[in-house]
Amino acid sequence: MTRRTAVAAAAAAAVVTGASGKPVLLGGAPVRTAAFPSWPVWGSSDETALLQVLRSGKWFRGYGKVVDAFEGKFAAAMGSPYCLAVANGTSALMTALHGLDVQPGDEVIVPPYTFIATVNAVLSKAALPVFVDTDLRTFQMDATKVEAAITERTVAIVPAYIAGAPANLDKLLEISKRRKVKLLEDAAQAHLGEWRGKKLGTLGDAGTFSFQASKNLNAGEGGAVLSADRAFIERCHAYHTNSSPKRGTQPPANQGANLRLTEFQAALLLSQMERLETQAKTRDMNAAHLTKLLQEIPGITPVSLEEGCTRSAWHLYMFRYDAAEFAGLPREKFLKALAAEGVPCSSGYGPLNRQPFLETVLQGRGYQRLFSADRLRRWREQNHTPVNERVCAEGVWFTQTTLLAGREDMEQIAAAIGKIRAHAAELARLG
Ligand SMILES: *Cc1c(COP(=O)(O)O)cnc(C)c1O
Repeated sequence: MTRRTAVAAAAAAAVVTGASGKPVLLGGAPVRTAAFPSWPVWGSSDETALLQVLRSGKWFRGYGKVVDAFEGKFAAAMGSPYCLAVANGTSALMTALHGLDVQPGDEVIVPPYTFIATVNAVLSKAALPVFVDTDLRTFQMDATKVEAAITERTVAIVPAYIAGAPANLDKLLEISKRRKVKLLEDAAQAHLGEWRGKKLGTLGDAGTFSFQASKNLNAGEGGAVLSADRAFIERCHAYHTNSSPKRGTQPPANQGANLRLTEFQAALLLSQMERLETQAKTRDMNAAHLTKLLQEIPGITPVSLEEGCTRSAWHLYMFRYDAAEFAGLPREKFLKALAAEGVPCSSGYGPLNRQPFLETVLQGRGYQRLFSADRLRRWREQNHTPVNERVCAEGVWFTQTTLLAGREDMEQIAAAIGKIRAHAAELARLG
């Protein structure tokens, strides 16, 4: 957009009802009162799919064929040779870490800016999560800092594609190959996201997805592991079904768990997949429009995508808020004022690597046996992620359903932020 059309768009946004008066918190009218689209979305096709499974009486994947059908359809949509459906995104990570042979006492490189499950999956293997700082521009794992975190015990790097956009995968893939460390993509938020035209979750040794209620593809709960490596997927398959070989008679080859998806969830996922691309296109268009509007507002910095990112899944819309450009209005007050204008928003993740549960685990008997006092001392010394702390302190999120609204709703968001900025000094003086 040229400067002139941007100004025209901002002017159009300013005539949005309620945008020219005072902020709600100063007694004005809200920019918007309509709700953003609700989630999940369903219709008669979903009802039919669920009823079919119900009436078949085959509710378990061992009896039916619906989980198999979903695996085939998801693999095809992602351009991946193999897919294993599992109970949820956390168990997808646990299963993939098993498939990659992550053992007690190993180390796994993780980002601090992620949902806790990325780290819990590593802890569930009694491996050490080693945190690498965040990139200020993208909010993703900073690939330039990964190599320094590799030790002789490092087995895998697990970038988590927060909001549905990747870390620098050219760098991560190069490091993974050269240092012989596996790359496991936590693509729980990244359905249909892409790196240089390839779907996220298909570039590394394995990729995992979540179909939990908030995710862009959902069945309440659910997850999947993708890989091009048949032997890896077979190890994962055995693990997710208590290591019982497929209707075989051989003894189990390894440990396992029950992490199976039900036929009901698979039926719902199959019907939900019909909407996935259309919803993704709507988010693409709205995110692009919102970015054009927001980057014109001083103090609002939408996250950048890496140059190689050809598509984000836009599970979240994230930007940095600079209070100094808003008369010192603290982020928490900004969020309150924005919510009052009818724009739901949040502050996003806090610093996961500072959470006390990590020390509880590291000081437990098991980790004390597995890792030397010297290794744990170095872990504490290296667990410094100043950029991540800044991202956690300045980040603002909208959820993916915000991006399922209309183009004019994006203009209202920009108008609401513009109005708050115009009255920021008065808002800062409020108690
Ligand atoms: C949602 C999520 C998970 C976990 O998925 P569940 O299905 O909730 O277990 C893991 N990693 C990230 C980045 C997520 O957003």
